[in-house]
Amino acid sequence: ALVTTLAACGGSGAGGGAGAGSGESTAPEDIQVGVAMPTETSERWIADGDAVKSQLEEAGYSVDLQFANDDIPTQQQQIDQMITKGADILVVASIDGTALSNQLQAAADQDIPIISYDRLINGTENVDFYVTFDNYNVGVQQATSLLTGLGLLDADGNKTDKKGPLNIELFAGSLDDNNAHFFWKGAIDTLQPYLDDKTLVVKSGQTKIEQAATLRWSQEEAQSRMEDLLTAHYAGGKTQLDGVLSPFDGISRGVITALSNAGYGKDIKAGLPVVSGQDAEIASVKLIDDGVQYSTIFKDTRKLASQAVDAVKAYAGGGEPTANDTESYNNGVKAVPSFLLESDIVIADNIQKLLVDSGYYTADEVKSGQ
Ligand code: BGC
Repeated sequence: ALVTTLAACGGSGAGGGAGAGSGESTAPEDIQVGVAMPTETSERWIADGDAVKSQLEEAGYSVDLQFANDDIPTQQQQIDQMITKGADILVVASIDGTALSNQLQAAADQDIPIISYDRLINGTENVDFYVTFDNYNVGVQQATSLLTGLGLLDADGNKTDKKGPLNIELFAGSLDDNNAHFFWKGAIDTLQPYLDDKTLVVKSGQTKIEQAATLRWSQEEAQSRMEDLLTAHYAGGKTQLDGVLSPFDGISRGVITALSNAGYGKDIKAGLPVVSGQDAEIASVKLIDDGVQYSTIFKDTRKLASQAVDAVKAYAGGGEPTANDTESYNNGVKAVPSFLLESDIVIADNIQKLLVDSGYYTADEVKSGQ
Protein backbone atom coordinates (compact mmCIF):
# COMPACT_ATOMS: atom_id res chain seq x y z
CA ALA A 1 0.00 0.00 0.00
CA LEU A 2 0.93 3.61 -0.41
CA VAL A 3 1.58 3.93 3.30
CA THR A 4 4.36 1.37 3.11
CA THR A 5 5.80 3.03 0.08
CA LEU A 6 5.66 6.34 1.89
CA ALA A 7 7.32 4.95 5.00
CA ALA A 8 9.95 3.22 2.91
CA CYS A 9 10.82 6.35 1.06
CA GLY A 10 10.63 8.64 4.05
CA GLY A 11 7.18 10.11 3.35
CA SER A 12 6.58 13.52 4.78
CA GLY A 13 3.64 12.98 7.08
CA ALA A 14 -0.08 13.56 6.63
CA GLY A 15 -0.67 15.33 3.38
CA GLY A 16 2.71 14.29 2.07
CA GLY A 17 1.12 12.04 -0.50
CA ALA A 18 2.29 9.14 -2.57
CA GLY A 19 5.94 8.79 -3.30
CA ALA A 20 6.71 12.09 -1.55
CA GLY A 21 10.34 12.93 -1.79
CA SER A 22 11.33 9.68 -3.47
CA GLY A 23 11.02 10.45 -7.13
CA GLU A 24 9.16 7.13 -7.39
CA SER A 25 5.53 7.20 -8.28
CA THR A 26 2.94 4.63 -7.29
CA ALA A 27 0.71 3.30 -10.06
CA PRO A 28 -2.90 4.49 -9.57
CA GLU A 29 -4.22 0.93 -9.29
CA ASP A 30 -1.94 0.41 -6.31
CA ILE A 31 -3.54 3.34 -4.55
CA GLN A 32 -6.65 2.61 -2.54
CA VAL A 33 -9.09 5.40 -1.88
CA GLY A 34 -11.65 4.97 0.91
CA VAL A 35 -14.81 6.98 0.27
CA ALA A 36 -17.20 7.38 3.23
CA MET A 37 -20.66 8.78 2.45
CA PRO A 38 -23.37 9.48 5.04
CA THR A 39 -26.52 7.84 3.70
CA GLU A 40 -28.36 6.30 0.81
CA THR A 41 -31.75 7.56 1.97
CA SER A 42 -31.17 10.82 0.13
CA GLU A 43 -30.60 10.65 -3.57
CA ARG A 44 -28.04 13.43 -3.42
CA TRP A 45 -25.49 11.26 -1.59
CA ILE A 46 -25.99 8.32 -3.93
CA ALA A 47 -25.17 10.65 -6.81
CA ASP A 48 -22.07 11.88 -4.98
CA GLY A 49 -20.92 8.36 -4.13
CA ASP A 50 -21.43 7.15 -7.70
CA ALA A 51 -19.71 10.18 -9.22
CA VAL A 52 -16.68 9.99 -6.91
CA LYS A 53 -16.31 6.24 -7.42
CA SER A 54 -16.63 6.28 -11.19
CA GLN A 55 -14.32 9.27 -11.65
CA LEU A 56 -11.68 7.73 -9.38
CA GLU A 57 -11.93 4.40 -11.18
CA GLU A 58 -11.62 6.14 -14.52
CA ALA A 59 -8.36 7.61 -13.26
CA GLY A 60 -7.25 4.09 -12.37
CA TYR A 61 -7.56 4.11 -8.55
CA SER A 62 -9.02 1.29 -6.44
CA VAL A 63 -12.08 2.51 -4.57
CA ASP A 64 -13.81 1.35 -1.39
CA LEU A 65 -17.15 3.23 -1.26
CA GLN A 66 -19.32 2.92 1.87
CA PHE A 67 -22.63 4.49 2.93
CA ALA A 68 -23.37 4.66 6.66
CA ASN A 69 -27.16 4.80 6.90
CA ASP A 70 -26.95 8.10 8.79
CA ASP A 71 -25.64 6.13 11.77
CA ILE A 72 -22.53 7.52 13.47
CA PRO A 73 -21.10 4.22 14.85
CA THR A 74 -21.53 2.65 11.40
CA GLN A 75 -19.53 5.44 9.80
CA GLN A 76 -16.81 5.18 12.46
CA GLN A 77 -16.57 1.45 11.85
CA GLN A 78 -16.44 1.85 8.09
CA ILE A 79 -13.55 4.29 8.31
CA ASP A 80 -11.72 2.06 10.81
CA GLN A 81 -12.07 -0.77 8.32
CA MET A 82 -10.87 1.30 5.39
CA ILE A 83 -7.72 2.06 7.34
CA THR A 84 -7.24 -1.58 8.36
CA LYS A 85 -7.69 -2.67 4.76
CA GLY A 86 -4.89 -0.37 3.68
CA ALA A 87 -6.54 2.81 2.41
CA ASP A 88 -3.97 5.32 1.17
CA ILE A 89 -6.24 8.35 0.92
CA LEU A 90 -9.65 9.03 2.53
CA VAL A 91 -12.56 11.06 1.21
CA VAL A 92 -15.13 11.61 3.96
CA ALA A 93 -18.61 13.17 4.01
CA SER A 94 -19.38 12.98 7.71
CA ILE A 95 -22.70 12.44 9.44
CA ASP A 96 -21.73 14.26 12.62
CA GLY A 97 -18.84 16.60 11.89
CA THR A 98 -17.30 16.12 15.33
CA ALA A 99 -17.58 12.35 15.77
CA LEU A 100 -14.61 11.11 13.73
CA SER A 101 -11.60 12.34 15.69
CA ASN A 102 -10.35 8.85 16.70
CA GLN A 103 -10.62 7.50 13.17
CA LEU A 104 -8.87 10.48 11.67
CA GLN A 105 -6.11 10.32 14.26
CA ALA A 106 -5.52 6.68 13.30
CA ALA A 107 -5.41 7.72 9.64
CA ALA A 108 -3.02 10.58 10.31
CA ASP A 109 -0.75 8.25 12.29
CA GLN A 110 -0.38 6.29 9.06
CA ASP A 111 0.18 9.37 6.92
CA ILE A 112 -3.14 8.96 5.12
CA PRO A 113 -4.30 12.27 3.65
CA ILE A 114 -7.90 13.13 4.57
CA ILE A 115 -10.20 15.06 2.28
CA SER A 116 -13.37 16.38 3.87
CA TYR A 117 -16.17 16.09 1.31
CA ASP A 118 -19.03 18.64 1.20
CA ARG A 119 -19.35 18.76 5.01
CA LEU A 120 -16.48 20.07 7.12
CA ILE A 121 -15.09 17.69 9.76
CA ASN A 122 -14.70 19.67 12.97
CA GLY A 123 -12.51 19.59 16.06
CA THR A 124 -9.45 17.85 14.63
CA GLU A 125 -6.21 18.92 13.00
CA ASN A 126 -6.40 15.79 10.85
CA VAL A 127 -8.26 17.22 7.90
CA ASP A 128 -5.97 18.11 5.04
CA PHE A 129 -8.33 19.57 2.48
CA TYR A 130 -12.01 20.45 2.07
CA VAL A 131 -14.03 20.35 -1.16
CA THR A 132 -17.48 21.91 -0.99
CA PHE A 133 -19.83 24.57 -2.32
CA ASP A 134 -20.01 28.12 -1.08
CA ASN A 135 -22.39 27.12 1.69
CA TYR A 136 -23.14 30.64 2.97
CA ASN A 137 -24.14 31.59 -0.55
CA VAL A 138 -26.39 28.51 -0.80
CA GLY A 139 -28.32 29.96 2.16
CA VAL A 140 -28.47 33.37 0.46
CA GLN A 141 -29.85 31.67 -2.66
CA GLN A 142 -32.47 29.75 -0.67
CA ALA A 143 -33.75 32.94 0.95
CA THR A 144 -33.54 34.88 -2.31
CA SER A 145 -35.68 32.30 -4.08
CA LEU A 146 -38.20 32.47 -1.24
CA LEU A 147 -38.38 36.28 -1.64
CA THR A 148 -38.81 35.90 -5.40
CA GLY A 149 -41.51 33.27 -4.97
CA LEU A 150 -43.32 35.56 -2.53
CA GLY A 151 -43.21 38.37 -5.10
CA LEU A 152 -40.98 40.62 -2.97
CA LEU A 153 -38.12 40.45 -5.49
CA ASP A 154 -38.41 40.40 -9.26
CA ALA A 155 -36.58 37.99 -11.55
CA ASP A 156 -33.55 40.33 -11.62
CA GLY A 157 -33.38 40.41 -7.83
CA ASN A 158 -34.81 43.93 -7.50
CA LYS A 159 -37.35 44.83 -4.84
CA THR A 160 -40.94 45.05 -6.05
CA ASP A 161 -43.70 47.30 -4.60
CA LYS A 162 -45.38 44.37 -2.93
CA LYS A 163 -46.14 45.11 0.72
CA GLY A 164 -46.38 42.67 3.60
CA PRO A 165 -47.09 41.41 6.03
CA LEU A 166 -46.56 37.90 4.71
CA ASN A 167 -46.38 34.91 7.02
CA ILE A 168 -43.45 32.54 6.76
CA GLU A 169 -41.95 29.71 8.81
CA LEU A 170 -38.30 28.67 8.95
CA PHE A 171 -36.63 25.26 8.79
CA ALA A 172 -32.95 24.50 9.34
CA GLY A 173 -30.88 21.35 8.81
CA SER A 174 -29.15 19.05 11.29
CA LEU A 175 -27.20 20.95 13.96
CA ASP A 176 -24.32 18.44 13.93
CA ASP A 177 -23.71 19.23 10.25
CA ASN A 178 -21.48 22.28 9.90
CA ASN A 179 -23.21 23.19 6.63
CA ALA A 180 -26.57 23.66 8.34
CA HIS A 181 -25.16 26.70 10.17
CA PHE A 182 -23.77 28.26 6.98
CA PHE A 183 -27.05 27.77 5.09
CA TRP A 184 -28.98 29.28 7.99
CA LYS A 185 -26.66 32.27 8.36
CA GLY A 186 -26.82 33.05 4.63
CA ALA A 187 -30.60 32.74 4.63
CA ILE A 188 -31.25 34.75 7.80
CA ASP A 189 -28.88 37.55 6.77
CA THR A 190 -30.91 37.81 3.57
CA LEU A 191 -34.33 37.71 5.28
CA GLN A 192 -33.44 39.90 8.27
CA PRO A 193 -34.33 43.31 6.76
CA TYR A 194 -37.77 41.95 5.80
CA LEU A 195 -38.26 40.51 9.30
CA ASP A 196 -37.12 43.77 10.87
CA ASP A 197 -39.63 45.91 8.98
CA LYS A 198 -42.38 43.27 9.40
CA THR A 199 -42.78 42.61 5.70
CA LEU A 200 -42.22 39.02 6.78
CA VAL A 201 -43.64 37.63 10.01
CA VAL A 202 -42.78 34.30 11.64
CA LYS A 203 -46.00 33.71 13.58
CA SER A 204 -44.58 30.85 15.62
CA GLY A 205 -41.76 33.09 16.82
CA GLN A 206 -39.36 30.20 16.12
CA THR A 207 -36.53 32.19 14.62
CA LYS A 208 -33.53 30.53 16.27
CA ILE A 209 -31.66 27.76 14.49
CA GLU A 210 -32.12 25.47 17.51
CA GLN A 211 -35.89 25.85 17.18
CA ALA A 212 -35.91 25.39 13.42
CA ALA A 213 -33.40 22.51 13.26
CA THR A 214 -34.21 19.10 11.76
CA LEU A 215 -32.13 16.22 13.14
CA ARG A 216 -30.43 14.26 10.31
CA TRP A 217 -32.36 16.39 7.81
CA SER A 218 -35.30 14.01 8.28
CA GLN A 219 -38.33 14.41 6.01
CA GLU A 220 -40.63 12.80 8.61
CA GLU A 221 -39.40 15.07 11.36
CA ALA A 222 -39.93 18.11 9.14
CA GLN A 223 -43.45 17.01 8.28
CA SER A 224 -44.36 16.56 11.90
CA ARG A 225 -42.86 19.91 12.95
CA MET A 226 -44.84 21.60 10.15
CA GLU A 227 -48.02 19.86 11.35
CA ASP A 228 -47.37 21.08 14.89
CA LEU A 229 -46.75 24.62 13.69
CA LEU A 230 -50.00 24.59 11.70
CA THR A 231 -51.96 23.31 14.69
CA ALA A 232 -50.45 25.79 17.14
CA HIS A 233 -50.21 28.96 15.04
CA TYR A 234 -52.31 28.64 11.87
CA ALA A 235 -55.63 27.27 13.16
CA GLY A 236 -54.75 23.89 11.70
CA GLY A 237 -54.40 25.34 8.22
CA LYS A 238 -57.12 28.01 8.20
CA THR A 239 -54.81 30.97 8.72
CA GLN A 240 -52.75 32.33 5.84
CA LEU A 241 -49.21 30.97 5.51
CA ASP A 242 -47.30 32.36 2.54
CA GLY A 243 -43.90 30.73 2.53
CA VAL A 244 -41.52 28.27 4.16
CA LEU A 245 -37.74 28.44 4.13
CA SER A 246 -36.49 24.89 3.65
CA PRO A 247 -32.79 24.02 3.38
CA PHE A 248 -33.11 20.58 1.72
CA ASP A 249 -35.51 18.95 -0.75
CA GLY A 250 -36.34 16.07 1.63
CA ILE A 251 -37.42 18.62 4.26
CA SER A 252 -39.34 20.52 1.56
CA ARG A 253 -41.32 17.42 0.64
CA GLY A 254 -42.17 16.74 4.29
CA VAL A 255 -43.32 20.34 4.69
CA ILE A 256 -45.38 20.22 1.48
CA THR A 257 -47.09 17.00 2.58
CA ALA A 258 -48.10 18.65 5.87
CA LEU A 259 -49.32 21.77 4.03
CA SER A 260 -51.39 19.94 1.47
CA ASN A 261 -52.88 17.62 4.11
CA ALA A 262 -53.95 20.76 5.98
CA GLY A 263 -55.81 21.98 2.90
CA TYR A 264 -53.58 24.75 1.54
CA GLY A 265 -54.08 23.56 -2.02
CA LYS A 266 -52.49 21.16 -4.45
CA ASP A 267 -50.04 23.62 -5.95
CA ILE A 268 -48.80 27.18 -5.54
CA LYS A 269 -51.48 28.54 -7.88
CA ALA A 270 -54.12 26.92 -5.68
CA GLY A 271 -52.72 28.51 -2.52
CA LEU A 272 -49.89 26.23 -1.44
CA PRO A 273 -47.21 28.32 0.29
CA VAL A 274 -43.90 28.96 -1.51
CA VAL A 275 -41.32 26.42 -0.35
CA SER A 276 -37.57 26.52 -1.10
CA GLY A 277 -35.17 23.55 -1.13
CA GLN A 278 -31.72 22.24 -1.94
CA ASP A 279 -30.00 19.54 -4.00
CA ALA A 280 -32.25 19.36 -7.05
CA GLU A 281 -33.38 15.87 -6.06
CA ILE A 282 -35.42 14.42 -8.89
CA ALA A 283 -38.61 14.04 -6.82
CA SER A 284 -38.45 17.76 -6.00
CA VAL A 285 -37.52 18.79 -9.53
CA LYS A 286 -40.74 17.14 -10.69
CA LEU A 287 -42.67 19.02 -7.97
CA ILE A 288 -41.09 22.27 -9.17
CA ASP A 289 -41.99 21.42 -12.76
CA ASP A 290 -45.56 20.77 -11.56
CA GLY A 291 -45.75 24.10 -9.67
CA VAL A 292 -45.89 22.44 -6.24
CA GLN A 293 -42.43 23.19 -4.75
CA TYR A 294 -41.16 26.63 -5.72
CA SER A 295 -37.38 26.26 -5.88
CA THR A 296 -34.30 24.25 -5.13
CA ILE A 297 -30.55 24.88 -5.19
CA PHE A 298 -28.58 22.89 -7.74
CA LYS A 299 -25.18 21.77 -6.53
CA ASP A 300 -23.67 19.76 -9.36
CA THR A 301 -22.38 16.61 -7.65
CA ARG A 302 -20.33 15.76 -10.75
CA LYS A 303 -18.29 18.93 -10.24
CA LEU A 304 -17.81 18.30 -6.53
CA ALA A 305 -16.72 14.74 -7.24
CA SER A 306 -14.27 16.00 -9.79
CA GLN A 307 -12.74 18.41 -7.26
CA ALA A 308 -12.36 15.53 -4.81
CA VAL A 309 -10.68 13.45 -7.50
CA ASP A 310 -8.30 16.32 -8.31
CA ALA A 311 -7.38 16.47 -4.63
CA VAL A 312 -6.78 12.70 -4.56
CA LYS A 313 -4.55 13.01 -7.64
CA ALA A 314 -2.56 15.81 -6.04
CA TYR A 315 -1.88 13.75 -2.91
CA ALA A 316 -1.17 10.62 -4.94
CA GLY A 317 1.39 12.57 -6.94
CA GLY A 318 3.16 13.77 -3.82
CA GLY A 319 1.78 17.30 -3.94
CA GLU A 320 -0.99 19.36 -2.36
CA PRO A 321 -4.36 20.24 -3.91
CA THR A 322 -4.96 23.85 -4.87
CA ALA A 323 -7.30 25.80 -2.60
CA ASN A 324 -9.40 28.78 -3.66
CA ASP A 325 -10.28 29.70 -0.07
CA THR A 326 -8.04 29.39 2.98
CA GLU A 327 -10.06 31.41 5.50
CA SER A 328 -13.77 30.67 5.50
CA TYR A 329 -13.72 27.20 7.01
CA ASN A 330 -12.18 27.00 10.45
CA ASN A 331 -12.95 23.66 12.06
CA GLY A 332 -12.23 24.81 15.58
CA VAL A 333 -8.60 23.68 15.39
CA LYS A 334 -7.43 25.19 12.14
CA ALA A 335 -8.56 26.92 8.98
CA VAL A 336 -8.87 24.09 6.47
CA PRO A 337 -7.70 24.89 2.91
CA SER A 338 -10.80 24.60 0.77
CA PHE A 339 -12.06 24.53 -2.76
CA LEU A 340 -15.51 26.13 -3.02
CA LEU A 341 -17.86 25.65 -5.97
CA GLU A 342 -20.80 27.80 -7.04
CA SER A 343 -24.43 26.71 -6.97
CA ASP A 344 -27.55 27.79 -8.90
CA ILE A 345 -31.17 28.57 -8.02
CA VAL A 346 -33.58 26.30 -9.91
CA ILE A 347 -37.20 27.31 -10.53
CA ALA A 348 -39.68 25.90 -13.06
CA ASP A 349 -38.44 28.22 -15.82
CA ASN A 350 -34.82 27.10 -15.81
CA ILE A 351 -35.10 23.33 -15.20
CA GLN A 352 -34.47 22.72 -18.88
CA LYS A 353 -31.40 24.93 -19.06
CA LEU A 354 -29.72 24.00 -15.77
CA LEU A 355 -30.66 20.37 -15.32
CA VAL A 356 -31.61 18.90 -18.69
CA ASP A 357 -29.30 20.72 -21.12
CA SER A 358 -26.38 20.04 -18.74
CA GLY A 359 -27.13 16.31 -18.87
CA TYR A 360 -27.82 16.06 -15.12
CA TYR A 361 -31.33 14.66 -15.77
CA THR A 362 -33.23 13.64 -18.87
CA ALA A 363 -36.52 15.33 -19.72
CA ASP A 364 -38.23 11.98 -18.98
CA GLU A 365 -36.75 11.85 -15.49
CA VAL A 366 -38.07 15.35 -14.80
CA LYS A 367 -41.56 14.35 -16.01
CA SER A 368 -41.67 11.12 -14.02
CA GLY A 369 -39.80 12.30 -10.93
CA GLN A 370 -37.55 9.24 -10.95
C1 BGC B 1 -25.43 19.09 2.20
C2 BGC B 1 -26.72 19.38 1.51
C3 BGC B 1 -27.77 18.36 1.88
C4 BGC B 1 -27.82 18.10 3.35
C5 BGC B 1 -28.73 16.94 3.68
C6 BGC B 1 -25.68 18.96 3.67
O1 BGC B 1 -24.49 18.76 4.33
O2 BGC B 1 -24.50 20.11 1.91
O3 BGC B 1 -26.50 19.40 0.13
O4 BGC B 1 -29.01 18.87 1.51
O5 BGC B 1 -26.55 17.86 3.86
O6 BGC B 1 -28.25 15.77 3.11
